[in-house]
Amino acid sequence: MANPSATITCPGCGGEAHLLQPATDEEPYEPGEVAAYRCADCGDRVDVPVSDDEDDGRPEDDG
Ligand SMILES: [Zn+2]
Repeated sequence: MANPSATITCPGCGGEAHLLQPATDEEPYEPGEVAAYRCADCGDRVDVPVSDDEDDGRPEDDG
């Protein structure tokens, strides 16, 4: 399953961002789609690409 998390940490303020459209059994997220979140603290929208597989060891290049 490639379903995104219900909440993520807002990259802007560190608050909690909530998934706008949670995946359902009928309409699951697919790899390549973008999951949109809205931060409860600062109101920013955060788009997170849905990936096919999960690599725990993948390095983050946050330059
Ligand atoms: Zn925020």
